[in-house]
Amino acid sequence: MRNIKCLIIGGGPAAYTAAIYACRAALKPTVVEGPEPGGQLMTSTRIENYPGFAEGCDAQSLMMDMRKQALNLGTEFISSSARECDLEAKTVSLENGETLSFTTLVIATGASAKYLGLESEKRFIGMGVSACATCDGFFYRGLKVAVVGGGDSACEEALYLSGLAEKVYMIVRKDYLRASMAMQERVRKTENIEILFGCVTEEILGDAMGVKGARLKRNGEIFEISIDGFFLSIGRHPNTEWLGGQLPLDENSYIVSDGVKTSKKGVFVAGDVRNTDFRQVVTAAADGCRAALEAEKYIKNEL
Ligand code: NDP
Repeated sequence: MRNIKCLIIGGGPAAYTAAIYACRAALKPTVVEGPEPGGQLMTSTRIENYPGFAEGCDAQSLMMDMRKQALNLGTEFISSSARECDLEAKTVSLENGETLSFTTLVIATGASAKYLGLESEKRFIGMGVSACATCDGFFYRGLKVAVVGGGDSACEEALYLSGLAEKVYMIVRKDYLRASMAMQERVRKTENIEILFGCVTEEILGDAMGVKGARLKRNGEIFEISIDGFFLSIGRHPNTEWLGGQLPLDENSYIVSDGVKTSKKGVFVAGDVRNTDFRQVVTAAADGCRAALEAEKYIKNEL
């Protein structure tokens, strides 16, 4: 079995930054980057709050440049996902059948889109139901769409879609948006976005051709909207199942850690998969840096 000094699981800013720092520390990192290299940000559009870009930057290019930087410095990438691990034996088994042994492990598996859990939602996935406006928005040029959620992501998705679709409904379950004031302001100023406050989706309506509408409930009143696309933006679920309960998780399944240190020696955690108040690109990248530096310190001082 191959032993890897610094094994990094994940494919977002935390993982790529950990790889960059691990390369510079001569830890010869291997990154198991999962099915979607680039992570959550590949579904995003512009980033205006990552330092160093005076005019903002394209989210996907930022991710691909981070990946390239890690590659240029000597990172090995494996295109597979972690299936399970044994943190005592220090091994990780991958979906491709390979098992890797590690000296240090950086867990940076991030979080994936949540769905409402409706039967009709499952039925129309890929036929009008999507959790990625930037991936699928193109198909809704000149049509009507809805975005569920009232956070920054939902606003971002709605703003992106407003440039393509004729009309964008935001379906928000509370009577206010959770998004930052700057984002709220932009949404409110966009004429073809209509916010439906206090609304819960009862069902997504459609036929063999795909989504045609949604049935909503507001204060006991049921009504329908006519739409061609239904976008979910209601938060994320951390990708921690493959850990099989070997690390303590909080009530939302995020890894409980002391900074980037987990309760297991030599095992570190970075980015959105850990229990943290901040889920920004810059904080994920900073976590990746700290995790790699902790891995270096662990190898130097504790082995
Ligand atoms: P959030 O958790 O901030 O928001 C989730 C939204 O979905 C809330 O409005 C929530 O409603 C709603 N929601 C959750 N579950 C359901 C449900 N079952 N049915 C209907 N609505 C539901 O997630 P985001 O993904 O928006 O953001 C995550 C983090 O990333 C935040 O810290 C955000 O600030 C950050 N972010 C920053 C960006 C930027 O700076 N450019 C861009 C995108 C995200 P309720 O309010 O009622 O709980």
